[in-house]
Amino acid sequence: MTGALVRAEGVSRGFRARQGLFARGREVMAVRGVDLAVGRGETVGIVGESGCGKTTLGRLMLRLVAPSAGRVLFDGQDLGAVAPAALRSLRRRMQVVFQDPYASLDPRRTVGDQIADGMLIHGLADAGTAREQVASLLRRVGLDPLQAGRLPHQFSGGQRQRIAIARALATSPDFIVADEPVSSLDVSVQAQVVNLLAELRTELGLAMLFISHDLHVVRHLSERVVVMYLGRVVEQGPTGAVFGAPAHPYTQALLAATPTLARGPRQRKASVAGEPPDPAAPPSGCAFRTRCAHATEACRAVVPALRPFDAGRAVACLRAEELRRS
Ligand code: ADP
Ligand code: MG
Repeated sequence: MTGALVRAEGVSRGFRARQGLFARGREVMAVRGVDLAVGRGETVGIVGESGCGKTTLGRLMLRLVAPSAGRVLFDGQDLGAVAPAALRSLRRRMQVVFQDPYASLDPRRTVGDQIADGMLIHGLADAGTAREQVASLLRRVGLDPLQAGRLPHQFSGGQRQRIAIARALATSPDFIVADEPVSSLDVSVQAQVVNLLAELRTELGLAMLFISHDLHVVRHLSERVVVMYLGRVVEQGPTGAVFGAPAHPYTQALLAATPTLARGPRQRKASVAGEPPDPAAPPSGCAFRTRCAHATEACRAVVPALRPFDAGRAVACLRAEELRRS
């Protein structure tokens, strides 16, 4: 892609378990050899079951964690190679919105002060202009600017997520990682916050990495979608193609397991059949083969590469072409 704002090239990241009598010392490869580009103003969705590496990939894109292999470029600059001062100034341009706004806000500081932090740290405002900018940000996310002096607990969950969004916008970023930003909210409030994010990214030309296990939300917001399984990208492409005619058996299973909106949000969440493998000891070859109805002997031996499939789409399945024809 030309003009990618953020680009991960072959990034991997492992973690050594720190807890558990028997787990201690075992290494989990959370992200394995991922290439991912997010264009200016583009929204890319990341989906996959819990533990597949979505959060770690988001944190790698922001250099909140360092890759153990590969690199991440922001506006052409290798985040692992720039000087500390340059990294600090690039940090102004990338922000994050977490799943739980309550955990990410300091309970003892007013929301106005917390929204102003980034502006003050990066020298974008003095005390007077920061106050005005906080008011205008609160208004922009649909809150009353007169509430800047309140503490986080005086707001509802949806309002707190709006505050977290205002705080992320305070440094005028170009790139936002939204990691399950509506997963902790009531279903009735989720759509409002998703719509706010959709408006903001269009209005401000933001590039966004939108992480969610909820396929509906991702479909609504993303131009492109990336499907992860056990640390690897198994399918990626335009949202319409991936959701309309999923090519990887895992994407197919994930979609089949997603309760439709028609069935209602109260429906018990279905899940992909079969046990997810132990992430510290993934299966040989294709990691999905132990749950895949189409797996053959070859799938046991070969790790499928992510190969071009159809317009703009890539799929990591040895049998993708064959399955499409049948
Ligand atoms: P997701 O966001 O898709 O649920 P994560 O990126 O949080 O996935 O986790 C991917 C894998 O890496 C999981 O097996 C998780 O247990 C492991 N992991 C993530 N962060 C850490 C950490 N700081 N220490 C140890 N293991 C971790
Ligand atoms: Mg996560």
